[in-house]
Amino acid sequence: MTRIKQILSRSRLVGVVLISSRCFHAELVRPESSGLPIIHHGKCVCELPPSHRFPMGKFPRVFHFLLKDQVITEKQVWIPEIASEDVLSCVHSEDYLKNFINGTINEAEQRRTGFPWSEDLVRRCRYETGGTVLAAEVALQRGLACSTAGGTHHAFPNYGSGFCLLNNLAVAAKYLMNKSPSKRKILIVDLDVHQGDGTAFIFKEEPYVFTFSVHCGKNFPLFKQQSDLDVSVEDGLEDEEYLSTVNSHLPGVLETFRPDLVLYDAGVDPHWEDELGRLRLTDQGLYQRDLYVLRAAVSRGIPVATVIGGGYS
Ligand SMILES: [Zn+2]
Repeated sequence: MTRIKQILSRSRLVGVVLISSRCFHAELVRPESSGLPIIHHGKCVCELPPSHRFPMGKFPRVFHFLLKDQVITEKQVWIPEIASEDVLSCVHSEDYLKNFINGTINEAEQRRTGFPWSEDLVRRCRYETGGTVLAAEVALQRGLACSTAGGTHHAFPNYGSGFCLLNNLAVAAKYLMNKSPSKRKILIVDLDVHQGDGTAFIFKEEPYVFTFSVHCGKNFPLFKQQSDLDVSVEDGLEDEEYLSTVNSHLPGVLETFRPDLVLYDAGVDPHWEDELGRLRLTDQGLYQRDLYVLRAAVSRGIPVATVIGGGYS
């Protein structure tokens, strides 16, 4: 956790610098602390069958260790609201939302999501989406904000897939675009090991959102969508090559697209121990990756909202 502490404390310094120059949402109620905003809600979890492979416990554990290792204090925590159906409908179809919320999605559809339906699952996903929306709003105001959940990039407008029911990255991006009188440009940097296929599909015709995905080509999903920039890497890639791949593309995207906000899916499933990853990044490699992305954006004055993405070890 020392490395996480280092990255957060460094990022906090940069975030504070940005506060004075970017203040878009004065109506947001701030916690007492001026430290790095952490977005967390205790209801981003639900019960799963005992042998289920999805590590639901990671959400409270991330938060637990941030506090235990004194990376953050309770005063830095922003608590999101549940995402309303109105907010969700900027991405998801009316029929899908009705069936998902009321539990009328059929068994085949549930299998594709990887989760058995429950009311708590719906509640979990809606709070998680509210968290990503809040992280994005706070980032615009404070320069940097980190959610302890989010990154469900395989969800499409009409169906869920691969542990993703609601595409919270897409909802946050659309919500902010709709809310602003002058359209904001949003860059989604998706470094989860799996391609952000749902997000790429949702924004394929949207010039104000740029989707950038670095992913393992042979990994899920089998059929890829087309992001604005896809970088497909081979199985077994290690730190050095992976980092040089990210480094060789991200600055160009930032310079040419010039986003008003970066949404960063910092999935840790490229880690060598990850059960679903197929890449071979170390703890240090992931630390360097995250530090690089944050520095690349904030050094150019671009706010960043982060979500934790995938991680299965
Ligand atoms: Zn993933």
